[in-house]
Amino acid sequence: MLDRPYKPSEFQNLINGEGVLGDSSELSVINPATETAVVTILSASAKQVDNAVLAAKAAFPTWSALQQNERKAVLAKIAEITKANMNELANLHASETGKPMADSLFEIGATAGFFEFHAHVPTDALDPTDIPNSDAKAYRLPLGVVAAIVPWNFPMALMAFKVPGALLAGNTVVIKPAPTTPLTTLLWASLINEALPKGVINVIADSGDLGPMLSAHKDVRKISFTGSTATGKHIMKSAADDLKRITLELGGNDPAIVLANADLDDISAPLFEAGFMNNGQTCSAVKRVYVHQSKHDALVRKLSEMADAAKIGSPLEDGVKFGPIQNQRQFDVVTELLEDAVKQGAVVEAGGYCPEGAGYYLRPTVLSGVKDGHSIVDEEQFGPVLPIISYDDINEVISTINSSSFGLGASVWGSDKDDINVVVKQIETGSVWINKHFPVAPNIPFGGARQSGVGSELGTQGLLEFTQLKIVS
Ligand code: NAP
Ligand code: MG
Repeated sequence: MLDRPYKPSEFQNLINGEGVLGDSSELSVINPATETAVVTILSASAKQVDNAVLAAKAAFPTWSALQQNERKAVLAKIAEITKANMNELANLHASETGKPMADSLFEIGATAGFFEFHAHVPTDALDPTDIPNSDAKAYRLPLGVVAAIVPWNFPMALMAFKVPGALLAGNTVVIKPAPTTPLTTLLWASLINEALPKGVINVIADSGDLGPMLSAHKDVRKISFTGSTATGKHIMKSAADDLKRITLELGGNDPAIVLANADLDDISAPLFEAGFMNNGQTCSAVKRVYVHQSKHDALVRKLSEMADAAKIGSPLEDGVKFGPIQNQRQFDVVTELLEDAVKQGAVVEAGGYCPEGAGYYLRPTVLSGVKDGHSIVDEEQFGPVLPIISYDDINEVISTINSSSFGLGASVWGSDKDDINVVVKQIETGSVWINKHFPVAPNIPFGGARQSGVGSELGTQGLLEFTQLKIVS
């Protein structure tokens, strides 16, 4: 399946500009398509985390003193190396994440793109500014060592939401990938190392035990975290002791609202895409569809046809749209929610079963006969199961959405601008999209309301979150 077999020794932590083999327990990284190990590596020890943080701390004075253009040149070089190694990185990425090759290539391309964007972005926002009608001037100082803690669903792209901005603002970083998807990040680190002053980027791979230590480390000044809401709460607590800065990008249960006047021929394909992108394992995938009762049956039919037609299979096979769920634990979460929904009366309109053989596969599943209060609707399923809920009173839908503990994103689908805007105005989530869902871009801030997060990533807002404001008057 792989282009070539991998050796454990290729996957070293990057600490102070050196590849360093882990000196803790073995970590088998499982290919979710085959349930066999891609490779078994050695994970980092607590001592190595400490070394990584100290290396980042030691690199900080020199890195932060550089001109922005000098830092941008390093980001540009990282982008170039990432692009030059696109196929090799994507192949490994497909093997550890289970994403089809096309999606893996897209993610590595996006990773390069986020570094490239930051290599050229105007950085006036970081320049000192005079405060009108005062003798005061505002400066933006980097914070110091940033811990970038990344989940498994977009291991490279979500790393690239954090690292370029942190570096551009003058910080140094320690990256911790998730234990089920560390390989591409480690290989990438070994490739970009030649472009880096030592200690500016450090990467440590763990077996699920070092996150709390990293986020509590006294020399980490900021935690930039993407992951579940439950872990986000732990991180907020561990940041409290020394009031570290935090940006938390957490779970979502994004609704799509389909209005009575929506043109189903236009919207069904992008809506399907938004529900099932990366097998639904996307923080802001559509995770529940509220459709006006007059369009319910037709929409269910269209989405089900697309689900039935979807080609699922090995990530490295041509034309495959859906690979497996990324890991066994998540597979269990999704299939339990599905079973629970069926017990509560959900009708399986498409999918709903796991093909035989190895791999954490679940066919894209469309459910009707579900409502608020069912766990598949209220909770974050984070997998290829999409519940469709019929409504007749839009105000009830809006009130349900606004009272959810989740508040990451939402979308409104229809054909009348005024009708759409009435709904958009009332929705309280971090992002609201119109006739689309999800597209993120490096210049647009992204963040969640309520328990979907604290702060923003990307855009000027995201960049400023890597700085401390200093007023001199
Ligand atoms: P997770 O279990 O919260 O893990 C995320 C990362 O945090 C991993 O690297 C994990 O590694 C680490 N971690 C766990 N406990 C920690 C602790 N106490 N202190 C510090 N780090 C700790 O999340 P996941 O299951 O990997 O990812 C799926 C979740 O991420 C979903 O809820 C999804 O919605 C959310 N997500 C949000 C966004 C967004 O932008 N809002 C984007 C993508 C995903 P260890 O296990 O090694 O500790
Ligand atoms: Mg849900």
